[in-house]
Amino acid sequence: MDGTSQEWSVEEAERVYGVSRWGGGYFHIGENGNIKVTPNPSDPSIQIDFKAVIDEIHQEGVQLPVVVRFHDILRSQVANLNTIFRNTIAEAEYSGEYQGVYPVKVNQMREVVEEIVDVGEHYNYGLEAGSKAELITVLALNTNEDSLTILNGYKDEEFMRLALLGRKLGRRMVVVVEKYSELLLLVKISKELGIEPLIGVRAKMTVKGRGKWESSGGERAKFGLSFAEIINTARYLKEQGMAHCLKLLHFHIGSQLTDIRSVKEAISEGGRIYAEMHKMGFPLDYVDVGGGLGIDYDGTASTSESSRNYSMQEYVADVVYGMKEVCDLEGVPHPNLVSESGRAITAHHSCVITQIMGEIRSNSAGVDTSEAEGEHYFVKNMREMASTFDQQTNMQELYNDASQYKEQALDAFKLRVLSLEELAKIETLYWEIMERLQEYYAHADYVPEELQELDYSLSSQYLCNFSVFQSAADTWAIDQLLPVVPISRMNERPDVNCSLVDITCDSDGKIDQFTVGREITDVLPMHKLQPNEPYYIGLFLTGAYQDVMGDMHNLFGRLNEVHIFSYDDDPEDFYIEEVVKGSSVEDVLSIMQYNPKAMAYDVKRLIDKQVSAGNIKPREGVRWTDFYEACLSGYTYLKTGK
Ligand SMILES: *Cc1c(COP(=O)(O)O)cnc(C)c1O
Repeated sequence: MDGTSQEWSVEEAERVYGVSRWGGGYFHIGENGNIKVTPNPSDPSIQIDFKAVIDEIHQEGVQLPVVVRFHDILRSQVANLNTIFRNTIAEAEYSGEYQGVYPVKVNQMREVVEEIVDVGEHYNYGLEAGSKAELITVLALNTNEDSLTILNGYKDEEFMRLALLGRKLGRRMVVVVEKYSELLLLVKISKELGIEPLIGVRAKMTVKGRGKWESSGGERAKFGLSFAEIINTARYLKEQGMAHCLKLLHFHIGSQLTDIRSVKEAISEGGRIYAEMHKMGFPLDYVDVGGGLGIDYDGTASTSESSRNYSMQEYVADVVYGMKEVCDLEGVPHPNLVSESGRAITAHHSCVITQIMGEIRSNSAGVDTSEAEGEHYFVKNMREMASTFDQQTNMQELYNDASQYKEQALDAFKLRVLSLEELAKIETLYWEIMERLQEYYAHADYVPEELQELDYSLSSQYLCNFSVFQSAADTWAIDQLLPVVPISRMNERPDVNCSLVDITCDSDGKIDQFTVGREITDVLPMHKLQPNEPYYIGLFLTGAYQDVMGDMHNLFGRLNEVHIFSYDDDPEDFYIEEVVKGSSVEDVLSIMQYNPKAMAYDVKRLIDKQVSAGNIKPREGVRWTDFYEACLSGYTYLKTGK
C-alpha cells in the first residue's frame, strides 16, 4: 500500500476489496463504510446494513462466529436461473422447455433445500440426489409432481427400490445409470415390483472442464458410460421391452468451469450423442447438462481457478443456442433441457461472520536496547547498524549484515556466549532495522529479491474466532479463494497488512490468499484494532459446499446460524426469522463417543473430594461444579464478551 496520499473513500475501498465485483449484485460498500446487502436486486429499495444485522445478532444473545443466511438471495438466484433459461428459450425459438434441478449435495441444510423447493415450485424446478441419504431426503421434500427428481451416483438395490417407490408416489424420478451393472439391477427390480422406471444414462465425456474439477470429464472419469455402453444400454432396454423408459441423457464435466469454451464443447458433444440416439430410434425427452456454472470468487471475471470468464446469461445462451444448432443440423427435435447448477444457486446466500481476537506480530514487543555495562560486542554492533541509517547506507548490505548478525547471535546464545537478555536486544534491534528497510522500499522502484518477502514477514496475523476446517474447508483443502472483508470501517484507510489465522492448534488453520485490487496477494489490508471496539470480518460466498463440508478438527463444532428475511416495513429492512444453535461442547464430545453426563459426574466427585479434604470451600466447590457443567453445554468457540 502506498501511504503517501491521505485521501481515502469508499470508492477506493471498492477498488481494493472488489465487493461489487464478486458480490453478484447482492453486496456493496455503503457510504457509511459498512457492507450493505441488497437481497433482491429487482427491489433495490430494500437495503440491509450488515452492521445492523450484527447488532441484532448480539441482541438475540447469539454468540459469534455465526453463519448468516439471506433467504431472499437464495430465492433470487433460483428465480434468476429459471427466468434466464425461459427468456433465452423464447428468444431462440427453442421448442423444448427448461426443467432444472438443484443438486442437494452442494448444501443439504433443510432450510436451504426447503426454500429452494418453495420458490422453485413456480418453475417446476426439481431436486437432484447423489446418494441414498440424499435420495431419502428428496423423496420426502420434492412433492411437486411436475418437477424432476434426478438420481445420480452409485446405487444399490435399496436405492433402486426407493426410486421406484417415488414412481409409485407419482414423482418424476429419473434413475441415471452411471455404471452398466446398475442397469441390470434396475431392470430386474422394476420387473419384480411391476413399476416402470424413468431411466437416464450418464455419458463419460471426452471433453474436460478446465479448472480444479477437470477430472470429472475424460476417459478416466469416475462416472458415466462409454459410447459403447450407451448403445448397449439402449439395445438391452429394447430387448426387455423397456426402450420407452429411456428418457434422459446426462453429462457433467466438472464444477466451477472457468472457461466458457468447455461448456460449448460439452454441449456439442452431448448434443451429438442425443441426436444419434434419436436417429437410432431412442427419442429421449431430456438432455441434462449437469452442473459447472461457476462463481466469480475473486472478482476478476477471468479463467483463474477461483473465477470464470462468463456470466449466467452467457452460460444459458451457450446451452440453449448450442443445443438448438446441433439439433437443427441433425433434423431432430429440441429436447427439454435440464441443468444441475448448485454452486451458482447457493454460493451467495450465506457468509460467516467472526470477530478478530487480537494481533500476532513477529516484531510486536521489544525490550529496552540501551547500552548495558559489559555487554557483548554483538549487541553493540547491531545497535550501531540500527543507528547509522541514512541516505548513504547501502540498504541491501544492511539487510544482509543484520540478518547474518541475528543468525550468529542465535548460535552464540546456544553456545552460552550470549545471555537471553542480550539475545532479546539483538532481536529487537533487528526488527527495527527491518521496519526501516520496509519503509524505505515502500517507495522504491526496484526491490531486491531477498527483500520482497519483507512485507510478508513484517505483516501482522489477525487471530479470527473461527476454524478454517469447519467454515472454509475448501480454502484449506484445494486453495479455494473466498472473499474476506471487514464488515465496517470501509470509509477509513486500512493501514495494517495482515493474513488471517484461526483458533485451531493447526498451523494450516490460516488464510493467506486474497484478492486485492485484481491481484492475488498473501496479505489483506485491514484496519488497526481499536481498544474496546470489536472488529468484524465476513467470509463471503460460503453457501456452496463450504457450509456443509466442514469438519470438527480440534473439536470446533458447527456454527450458530441466523436466518435473515428482508421485510420492507421494518426500519432496518430485515428480521431474523430463525436462530439455529450450533454445536455445544457436549454435542461434539458425544459424537466422539464421550458421555458428557458421566464426565460432569466424575469432575463433581473430584471436586467433592477436595472439599472433604478441606482444600476447596463447600460453596466454592458448588461454583466450580456449575462452571464445568456450563462450559460443557456452551459453545465450542471463544467467548468474546460482547
Ligand atoms: C456436484 C455435481 C453437480 C453440481 O455442480 P455445481 O458445479 O455445483 O453446479 C451437478 N451434477 C453432478 C452430477 C454433480 O456431481
